[in-house]
Amino acid sequence: MSDIQSLVSQTNRQYIKFGGGTFGMLSLDFGELSQKEINALLSGDEGLKLLYDVATASEKYLYEASETALVRKESGARFMISMIFDSNGVVDTSLNGKDSNGGYTFKPGGSYDGHLIISSEGSCQEVDANGSLISKSRSSMVFHELAENYERTTNGIDYHGQNGQPGAHDIAVSRENRWSNRSLIPGGIATYNNPNNYRNRYMILNIIKSQYDSTGFNF
Ligand SMILES: [Zn+2]
Repeated sequence: MSDIQSLVSQTNRQYIKFGGGTFGMLSLDFGELSQKEINALLSGDEGLKLLYDVATASEKYLYEASETALVRKESGARFMISMIFDSNGVVDTSLNGKDSNGGYTFKPGGSYDGHLIISSEGSCQEVDANGSLISKSRSSMVFHELAENYERTTNGIDYHGQNGQPGAHDIAVSRENRWSNRSLIPGGIATYNNPNNYRNRYMILNIIKSQYDSTGFNF
């Protein structure tokens, strides 16, 4: 939930509401504000606009900060990805627009149309103008991946653009360029590091994996 709140300016966080249940259901509550006032808020805060787009879409979304991505293979079989072994600590899945491999390498878990998981323990770096590695804000990772997932899931746009049209990745980069908290290189990372110790976590991750892949969890 702090990841979601981090997308929005401090003063606009009052409009974000999370419901109960296993996962907090996101909604935006603008109280007595008129649509004109709401539109003014949205146009002044690209992060709030992104949450508004996702919260008002008819598709079903799930965002998780986790070390386990409980998703499905293209065939539909349940498959757990351990974020320790992932290349960038992000698993961004959609039933609609295609992924960066031009297909559906992984599909959402449960009954979601869009399912985004970002490693809870990992962190990323980007390169600054001098070529030095600097840490990339978690907030910008969440912004980019959520914007990309929205374009794929609700607008049906593939990751890669075609015939001169921008793809979901390009649109997410453009959106981040309009965002007050933008990173130096929207949509780009240089390194991903996960401090989780393989030896300590291997057993428990394997138990979760065998349980999920064989019988699944309800979510
Ligand atoms: Zn991207």
